[in-house]
Amino acid sequence: MKHALAINGGAKSCEVSWPSWPMWDDLERQALNAVLESGKWWYGENVQRFERDFAAFQDARYSVSASSGTAAQEITLAALGIGPGDEVIVPPYTFIATASAVMRVGATPVFADILPHNMCMDPADAARKITPHTRAIMPVHLGGYIADLDALGALCNEHHLALVEDACHSWGGKWKGKGTGAIGRMGVFSFQVSKNIASAEGGIVLTDDADLAEIVRSISNCGRTTGGAWYDHVRIGTNARLTEFQAAILNAQLTRLEAHTLRREANGRVLNEGLRQIPGIMIGQEDPRITRRAYHLYPIRLDLEKLGVTRERFVAALNAEGVPASNGYTRPLYKLGVFVNPPEVANRRGIEHDYTQDYCPVCEQICHDTVWLFHTLLLADIEAMHDVVSAVRKVIEHADELQG
Ligand SMILES: *Cc1c(COP(=O)(O)O)cnc(C)c1O
Repeated sequence: MKHALAINGGAKSCEVSWPSWPMWDDLERQALNAVLESGKWWYGENVQRFERDFAAFQDARYSVSASSGTAAQEITLAALGIGPGDEVIVPPYTFIATASAVMRVGATPVFADILPHNMCMDPADAARKITPHTRAIMPVHLGGYIADLDALGALCNEHHLALVEDACHSWGGKWKGKGTGAIGRMGVFSFQVSKNIASAEGGIVLTDDADLAEIVRSISNCGRTTGGAWYDHVRIGTNARLTEFQAAILNAQLTRLEAHTLRREANGRVLNEGLRQIPGIMIGQEDPRITRRAYHLYPIRLDLEKLGVTRERFVAALNAEGVPASNGYTRPLYKLGVFVNPPEVANRRGIEHDYTQDYCPVCEQICHDTVWLFHTLLLADIEAMHDVVSAVRKVIEHADELQG
């Protein structure tokens, strides 16, 4: 019985108590209290400092903070002047915001498939999806992997499109030495509570273009302009401002981001080496152009046919061994109700695309066979990574005991 799967009554292979998330200490506690006591709760030195420091951390010139990653995406697309009649190419393997932000500005998301080895947008499929209406390409750096920014950047240059990075999984990521989110025309990050730095809600837009930064700022601040009168509103804006409380937390979180990123990366390498040896699973390929990898999610693909199990049973068995894992995205975005429910479709104005005809085979397969490990697991110590590898190996070797 000693080697039986934990789900079948055997001993667990992993007794690690995983780091909990979010993480905080006296730094957050004191910073929050200082904001509270100052009475300056809004648009003060914490927001300014975070905008400056995060932009520097990712190698961008300008930044505008926002109330969420979703809001940051919407104001980015609005600032680029994208609207009704325009198309934006996005991947279908991502959080809904990547596509819903496009629809919120009245434009049409067009899905390009992802690549099997990195789960990021396939530049060749993106090229096939370009039409005279395309205005931007918005790849997602899935799980902290980085989409092929060379190929996508070249495509954008050739067709005069804006490259917008959805870097909401890529804090600290570097492509050929430069920070993600600062490589495309614009980049967007989220600080929602599950993300690698967190303030409950929050987001930021990065760009090297001063004019665009000013427009994003204006849209995020009710259409005001820098230096303008308080009740002068020059364009259609919204309120997407970050508070001093959130910025105070983010300033504290940012002091740990570098060390956390390096630790996740070192642990990620240990996982890569161990898991690569195990038959029946597939992990992402290394790309030497990714000079620092953020590791928000650690995806593992299962050869379900060979293993003869369902993904759900595999996840349950892995959880029982003491390894937190989940299914991740189980459907390509274009299969979600917002794209295919008749009442939603009827409510859409200007978006004529029939999403029931969409089919991205790689994404469909990955939605079916992929398991995610969460980034907090990568903050444990190196020995815990060996336990994870042993747990995965054990479940794989005993996969026949998971049938039925
Ligand atoms: C989290 C996330 C967003 C949106 O961020 P919120 O802050 O939750 O609004 C956008 N894109 C991706 C890929 C995300 O994971």
